[in-house]
Amino acid sequence: MAGAWETVIGLETHVQLRTVSKMFCGCSAAFGAPPNSNVCPVCLGLPGALPVPNEQALKLAVRAALGLGCTVHPRSVFARKNYFYPDLPKGYQISQFEQPLATAGSLSYLSPDRGVATATIQRLHVEEDAGKSLHDRFPKQTAIDLNRCGVPLIEVVTGPDFRSPHEARTYLLTLKQVLEYAGISDCDMEKGSLRVDANVSVRRAGETTLGTKTEVKNINSFAYVEKALTVERDRQIAVLEGGGTVAQQTMLYDSKTNSVRPQRSKEESHDYRYFPDPDLPPLVLTEEFIAEQQTLLPELPAKKRERFVEKYALSVTDAAVLTADRAVADYYEAVVHAGAEAKTAANWVMTEVLEDAKDHADGLRVAPGALANLIGLVRGGTLSHQAAKRVFAEVAERGGEPRNVAEALGVVQVADTGVLAGWVSEVLGTHTTEVTRYKQGETRLLQFFVGQVMKASRGKADPKLAQRVLEEKLAS
Ligand code: ADP
Ligand code: ZN
Ligand code: MG
Repeated sequence: MAGAWETVIGLETHVQLRTVSKMFCGCSAAFGAPPNSNVCPVCLGLPGALPVPNEQALKLAVRAALGLGCTVHPRSVFARKNYFYPDLPKGYQISQFEQPLATAGSLSYLSPDRGVATATIQRLHVEEDAGKSLHDRFPKQTAIDLNRCGVPLIEVVTGPDFRSPHEARTYLLTLKQVLEYAGISDCDMEKGSLRVDANVSVRRAGETTLGTKTEVKNINSFAYVEKALTVERDRQIAVLEGGGTVAQQTMLYDSKTNSVRPQRSKEESHDYRYFPDPDLPPLVLTEEFIAEQQTLLPELPAKKRERFVEKYALSVTDAAVLTADRAVADYYEAVVHAGAEAKTAANWVMTEVLEDAKDHADGLRVAPGALANLIGLVRGGTLSHQAAKRVFAEVAERGGEPRNVAEALGVVQVADTGVLAGWVSEVLGTHTTEVTRYKQGETRLLQFFVGQVMKASRGKADPKLAQRVLEEKLAS
């Protein structure tokens, strides 16, 4: 059924900027403070209080815009978006409307269906957050927490560019990656520092005009983005196939029942009576200011991925894993700079290091230099790969130099031919039948003898050397 229909999705993403204070006042923007403790006349909208834009927020917003390839406009305008809601004491939200901070950007992401795809960023504007209604704090009552009032946000609006719920989710994860890399936001959906409104419509395959869309809200995890859009897409298809029409409205997603229900008919922008905020002059940014933000942007994930492929001869998939998180990418490069071979280091980071990091909040526990040393011990034949993994776990848990730890664990490979010769004689002495068969030409038994030597040495024998000593003894 879904095959005959094409899904069209556009996302509007609100992201809290990582600032100490709010957008237009000096109140703390910290998450989790006691309700209504971070408020002042400005963010409460008391008469006579005047807003002053937060410069750090503007810097982060401009960096976000540049990171998304937008044109940043030297002049933009703060506008009042008027509506009533209990969590909005001023009766309006300061936002940007006709003249946003930035327009016409793009973000490439790896579509699960189409390979590298590019989402257009129609606009990116600055605004302030509203407060929060708390429905679960008191039985049968709703409480209001205004701490979030005035927290700086950017809104990033894409074109109707996604063709599946999975694509929309992939874009969103890519957006999060870019914004995290650039230190713009922690993009934590569970904490509400990244929130997404998902617009979706369907049309017959091959149709070029857009169908009527609905806007799905109340999506609070990355997984729910995909689920909510799938449910709504399927609902629209069912309506259309039943001969009905899709009403343009706002839908609320309920993750408990994995269903959507209409919230209200969609308001139009003219309902908000937008007008330029008389308390705020147009936002004028100098060329120097914008250029400086560009220089403060770090290397972004896509660039870093390309560079890793190029410089370290890694596959695109490996490079993508290593660059998914900036801290991991930096760690990997530090291991290589400390002398480890690039591909071996990549394998270690993608397996042992990331597995260890998954189980431990304290992050990357083995210092890059120590991992490089450990890799060197394997390369030099001092440790088997198996033993090195044990040493890694031990260093992660208790610290120490890999060489010392390996000795303390008794896993250093014995490369002393004298000692090896002892184990070899022992093995040949107890397996006389196999020795005879070997001498009669069954040379593949060599691996059996190597295995026995490894066993006799409890894994400590250097297998290559053991093989050589065995060959010599068997030849005589
Ligand atoms: P509105 O006037 O309802 O705010 P906009 O044109 O501003 O609509 O678009 C809001 C978001 O909805 C954008 O992300 C846009 O790409 C997306 N969008 C617009 N039309 C459609 C459609 N027919 N189907 C899916 N998404 C759409
Ligand atoms: Zn305040
Ligand atoms: Mg709009």
